[in-house]
Amino acid sequence: MIRLIFWIAIVFAVLWLWRKIKPTPRQPAQRGAEQALLMVRCAHCGVHLPQDRALSNGQHWYCTQAHLNEGPAPRER
Ligand SMILES: [Zn+2]
Repeated sequence: MIRLIFWIAIVFAVLWLWRKIKPTPRQPAQRGAEQALLMVRCAHCGVHLPQDRALSNGQHWYCTQAHLNEGPAPRER
């Protein structure tokens, strides 16, 4: 008889702990996607950098003003 009470107590303890842990992962997952920066590739040297730091010239993006002046790399893969 004491074993039955023991097991009921364990079940209640597990349920209580589970309810206590369950509400924690309630953080909005959209924030990370909003903060993720869009990465662009320099058309001259191929380095990847955030779009807000890149320089655009038409359809191409460049990492520096010098690469923008030189234009896209002659070799294209
Ligand atoms: Zn570059």
